[in-house]
Amino acid sequence: MTQPHDDPCAHCEEMMQPYLDHILTEGERLEAEHHLDDCEWCRRRYRFEESLRVYVRQAVSEPMSASLKQKLSALRIPLN
Ligand SMILES: [Zn+2]
Repeated sequence: MTQPHDDPCAHCEEMMQPYLDHILTEGERLEAEHHLDDCEWCRRRYRFEESLRVYVRQAVSEPMSASLKQKLSALRIPLN
């Protein structure tokens, strides 16, 4: 059930987390994307949230193993 919302952006924001979790129904996803198409503000919010998630996922993914660290330093990729 969905509460009627005067503010489409508020509704959009409600759908953001499920959208990013890919648990929206097809219809809801299309609705969100449709709104994102013509709302730059929400688009930025979604992008920000999305990049934040990618960053967090990387940050919390298993601590770097010693062998991975070695490989990275062999490639001279700065770790920080
Ligand atoms: Zn919006």
